[in-house]
Amino acid sequence: MKVSQRIEKLKPYLFVEITQKIAEKQAKGEEIISFAIGDPDIPTPPHILDRLCREAQDPANHRYPESAGLPELCQAIARWYQSRFGVSLDPETEVLPLIGAKEGIGHIAFCYIDPGDTALVPDPAYPVYSISTMLAGGTPYYMALREQNGFLPDLSSIRDYTLQRARLLWINYPNNPTGAVAELDFFNRVVEFASRYDIAVCHDFPYSEVAFDGYQTVSLMQADGARDIGVEFHSLSKSYNMTGWRIGMVVGNAGMVDALRRLKSNLDSGIPQAIQYAAIEALTGPQDCIAEHNAIYQRRRDLITEVLASVGLEVTIPKAGLYVWARVPEGYDSVDFTANLLDQVGVAVTPGVGYGRSGEGYVRLSLTIPDAALVKGLSRLSGWRNTRRLTLKK
Ligand SMILES: *Cc1c(COP(=O)(O)O)cnc(C)c1O
Repeated sequence: MKVSQRIEKLKPYLFVEITQKIAEKQAKGEEIISFAIGDPDIPTPPHILDRLCREAQDPANHRYPESAGLPELCQAIARWYQSRFGVSLDPETEVLPLIGAKEGIGHIAFCYIDPGDTALVPDPAYPVYSISTMLAGGTPYYMALREQNGFLPDLSSIRDYTLQRARLLWINYPNNPTGAVAELDFFNRVVEFASRYDIAVCHDFPYSEVAFDGYQTVSLMQADGARDIGVEFHSLSKSYNMTGWRIGMVVGNAGMVDALRRLKSNLDSGIPQAIQYAAIEALTGPQDCIAEHNAIYQRRRDLITEVLASVGLEVTIPKAGLYVWARVPEGYDSVDFTANLLDQVGVAVTPGVGYGRSGEGYVRLSLTIPDAALVKGLSRLSGWRNTRRLTLKK
């Protein structure tokens, strides 16, 4: 059967390829330590699971949910934004629960991109921003994130020709994969820029709660006029170790929220209600788990950055997020280096170029690796230094 052109052009999702390579090695009996995937290894906190199990028993939750989400969940999200960021949102018009942030990120392109339109997309980035743009018939314009600019895009370098066709502007801080953070002055500039050119801003913010050394993340919604021009995508996945339950939200501009709600009401039938109640529990229940998880990630971050530096990889210590973004040693590109580590010491990392051309020269290591594996992986990495001289190509 002939598949559509849009499917034909689609490459396998980045992580599928990496997972396959690892699986092949494992099938041969090799033990691979993987720093490649960002998926919290710590279980969902028990009070959230208790609520989920209880709600699963209630027959009222066995039926079709409303695709707009439970009003109680929308209210809990609005109250959480108020207490967390001092931003007040209208739970009816400015909040929409999602089947994970990825679902909303993928679908919003279909609300704002027509064939011939452009989306401004960071490079490197989470792949869904550009792929959804292409699936909707649009063209991504890649904004290079450079280390010397703190991995923030240089908006002033984008030409009028591109700006006239641009409908969406994607940003993501704390950033995956670079680990960079953004402050309020950047979001103020983004809002001012997007308003001038009438471009809808989408801020992807799943790492808002994963921060170290007391660092406080900033919401786009804290910028003046943000809700006139943009939305923020959010997720319970990384904040509460709920990647498997698939729940997130989008908040902000009422027109954008409404457009996405209209699209979704024609495609999906909402989020299982027991999971929505679990999300209410997460957002309104005790928050100690966040500091506990961050302490674990921070310790891993420190161990990883120390070992990477000792084997000659340059790293900036991230203030937030789940990733260490490291420069590969002289003489390698990111794919060479990744293959070399995998073959020689059985350690998997993600090549930066997989996130876009400007990711070349870097690799990403995730902090979501259990402590025992982390220690083993780091000792293999230290050992790699000794084999390195023999294998260096140049
Ligand atoms: C993990 C991640 C998401 C996906 O969140 P879900 O709510 O699990 O779909 C979105 N964006 C970025 C940048 C991520 O790293």
